[in-house]
Amino acid sequence: LGQARADQRDVVRDLSRIEHAYDRLSLMRDLSKAIGNGEIFLQYQPKVHLRRQEIVSVEALVRWQHPQRGLILPGDFIPLAEESGKIGALTLWTIRQAIADQQVLAESGHDIPIFVNISGLLLADAEFVDQVCTMVRGVAAKVGFEITETAVIRDPECAIRHLRMFADIGVTLAIDDYGAGLSSLAYLKQLPARELKIDKMFVLELTSSNRDPLIVRSTIDLAHALDMEVTAEGVETPAAMALLSVMGCDMAQGFLISRPIAIGAMRQFLDEGRHLTATAAMRPSFGRPESF
Ligand code: C2E
Ligand code: MG
Ligand code: MG
Ligand code: MG
Repeated sequence: LGQARADQRDVVRDLSRIEHAYDRLSLMRDLSKAIGNGEIFLQYQPKVHLRRQEIVSVEALVRWQHPQRGLILPGDFIPLAEESGKIGALTLWTIRQAIADQQVLAESGHDIPIFVNISGLLLADAEFVDQVCTMVRGVAAKVGFEITETAVIRDPECAIRHLRMFADIGVTLAIDDYGAGLSSLAYLKQLPARELKIDKMFVLELTSSNRDPLIVRSTIDLAHALDMEVTAEGVETPAAMALLSVMGCDMAQGFLISRPIAIGAMRQFLDEGRHLTATAAMRPSFGRPESF
């Protein structure tokens, strides 16, 4: 009986593996039509400058409204897009849309850049890089790119050469998710990035952990020594925001300030200066920590 149960378990496990693989394939097939069907859209999340108490840029985050499955977040389809070779087309669409949406913000008096996440795979694709350069030349000040450092590691020379091309035409580059992967100080030294984003895994528990504040503070100091500005992602509480400010972090991004929202809502958010609710956490009356 024991053996029969074990066999049954194996069969169930195999079936669920097959089902999972089938599921991925069917999603991949749907993805190839998603852009054309208008199912892909962008949401935007602001980044607040802590000293200036201003929104200095916004980040574009891609979403997929699947007709049967509902909303799918990028973690569940960017890897599929990468595997199926659709990531280039998806990213070109995203950059084009972000440029158009930046115009919407600029027209209402908020001429701040929109940052787009660029998958590392694409840094090896000379044709993609060329297409992007053509697209952003002339509007380079309006866009920035966020790149995870692990992306660079596969073919560092090629990736760095392509990143320099972006930087040379005036696109601001940010290193995303710093500290989460195999972050390497060797690349940090060579990348033409002006901004470093500390991964949210170090920020989410900033005020309840012993080690995270030490890691965050030394990362801030390191970035500043390299003449880069630092953003903390995953800022969810007033206490975290206040501590980051004391530590000299330049910018903050997270649910405390705003969740990712549609472009129209973002314009309204900026019109109303709604980030000031969150930055109130840094005023002395809030009980700001004096030192760390
Ligand atoms: P990311 O670029 O590091 O983006 C930050 C992620 O953290 C976003 O998840 C955002 O919604 C989430 N987040 C922001 N603030 C908070 C917070 O306070 N607390 C918590 N718990 N989470 C927060 P999202 O939108 O699911 O995106 C996940 C990742 O997918 C992004 O990480 C980025 O690497 C990738 N991604 C998004 N859009 C694109 C795209 O257009 N192209 C590519 N290649 N990747 C994209
Ligand atoms: Mg990002
Ligand atoms: Mg990030
Ligand atoms: Mg992240």
